[in-house]
Amino acid sequence: MNDVPSARRALLAQIAGYLAWEEELGGSFVPSVSAPSPLPSARSSESAPALARPTSQAESSSRAEPHPSTPPAPESSPARAKLATPELTRRLDLLDGEVRGCTRCELHKGRTQTVFARGNPESELVFVGEGPGQEEDRTGQPFVGPAGVLLDKMVAAMGLARDAVYICNVVKCRPPGNRTPLPSEAGACAGFLEQQLDLIQPRVIVALGRCAAENMGLVSGGGWRGRWGRYRGYDVMPTYHPAFLLRSPEYKRPVWEDLQRVMTQLKS
Ligand code: SF4
Repeated sequence: MNDVPSARRALLAQIAGYLAWEEELGGSFVPSVSAPSPLPSARSSESAPALARPTSQAESSSRAEPHPSTPPAPESSPARAKLATPELTRRLDLLDGEVRGCTRCELHKGRTQTVFARGNPESELVFVGEGPGQEEDRTGQPFVGPAGVLLDKMVAAMGLARDAVYICNVVKCRPPGNRTPLPSEAGACAGFLEQQLDLIQPRVIVALGRCAAENMGLVSGGGWRGRWGRYRGYDVMPTYHPAFLLRSPEYKRPVWEDLQRVMTQLKS
């Protein structure tokens, strides 16, 4: 019986999130599919995703891409046993500690601190951005600036609590001037992202921005956004970065369509 009020509150929160995103879209958006419902992905306890500051040129270089409605057929990736929560937390903490002491690339020289992740490591949904920005470097948390606020609205519109998803970046140290990480920097940091993902084992990854998509090998030919791909055996939906959407709000609608595909996949 006590669950009824909480369920009602959760539903109201989802509606509020959805309306907030609709407002972001200009207040005139009529969804082509039914409004989102709670995702089974929230393995989370409902308690607990670039600073990709992709250049508009890079983001807009592929605006007319194919839109496969389903991810590619699973590869023969080995089934991995998901770790129990205490061990998962312990292993992620160890990895975070390794990141904090990392000097593998030049980015360590300019950082205030490393930025590992935020959110629920048991989530089935992971957002991967590009790298920390100024605010993230200051706080040690990914996606806490204006782009993070927009990402939170996107997550809410999907019917999920802010901390029900897991959010991290390609590189863990802030590139100077918020530039895109160099391939050498992303390459030096790739092992950390790979280990994070393999510990979490998400059902779906959303690659935020071209840089994240590129570093997952999902940019080929002319298109990348809205096209299901696979990285290390995980389904990946690449979409535009929230920082890009702040500059080019007209692209919020295709992003919403991508997120709808993600929700459909998570509910399948
Ligand atoms: Fe290490 Fe990654 Fe930071 Fe480079 S960006 S110093 S590889 S943690």
